[in-house]
Amino acid sequence: HDPIITISHVWKYFGHLPALQDVSLEVSSGERVVIIGPSGSGKSTLLRSINRLEEIDKGEIMVEGQDIMSRENNINLIRRNLGMVFQQFNLFPHKTVLQNLTLAPIKLHKLSREEAEDRALGLLKKVGISDKANVYPAMLSGGQQQRVAIARALAMQPDIMLFDEPTSALDPEMVGEVLDVMVNLAEEGMTMICVTHEMGFARTVADRLIFMDQGQIVEAGKPDTLFTAP
Ligand code: ADP
Ligand code: ADP
Repeated sequence: HDPIITISHVWKYFGHLPALQDVSLEVSSGERVVIIGPSGSGKSTLLRSINRLEEIDKGEIMVEGQDIMSRENNINLIRRNLGMVFQQFNLFPHKTVLQNLTLAPIKLHKLSREEAEDRALGLLKKVGISDKANVYPAMLSGGQQQRVAIARALAMQPDIMLFDEPTSALDPEMVGEVLDVMVNLAEEGMTMICVTHEMGFARTVADRLIFMDQGQIVEAGKPDTLFTAP
């Protein structure tokens, strides 16, 4: 069936150095893609190019049939369907957890406060932190903050979720609680692209594992074909 994301022959330079070299990738609706590779290999740049946090220099990226670089297509509309979770949680520090989740749906989906709060509370329950709705992010552990960040992205009801090393800034004992939320999302059929070093997660969740090196996709396949026994 039709790809939901098509990345075709994409190049991205920082100065004279290519961070992405002729990268092509198609992602189907409902597919779980995990991107691995050494530090500096272009994983984050590729992910950030999909919602135009980085502007590509050459090639084309289509999201749900729309060319993200085209002038006619409003990138803000395209971004509403692309939830993104970063290594740093990036929550609004002066807003409560509930306000973090209701802000965008009220503004962009024109929900009433009550409707937005209903949606938010449902998501907080889903990520296991219903009891923290009225606290500020600084009062939460890293794992809790990252679960709020995932819930906040989901509050916009995106078609696709992008994860950029979501557990890399966490203390080891909190990694599992965030991965559990991601596994649940995957089981619900969410289209996901995840950059991560968590190989257990990659092995169990990925429909396709992409290995990047020096700005290129050097291997791609089902996890069991790439994780061959030594
Ligand atoms: P990864 O996510 O695999 O660690 P990145 O996509 O962050 O890799 O980086 C790919 C390459 O691009 C690296 O050489 C990095 O130093 C460089 N790079 C990334 N962002 C910038 C930037 N804003 N300015 C200059 N160079 C950058
Ligand atoms: P990540 O690998 O997760 O992108 P980094 O620490 O490499 O994390 O990058 C953090 C930020 O610094 C990003 O916004 C990235 O674009 C920028 N950055 C990365 N490498 C460079 C670089 N060589 N020069 C300037 N900015 C960079």
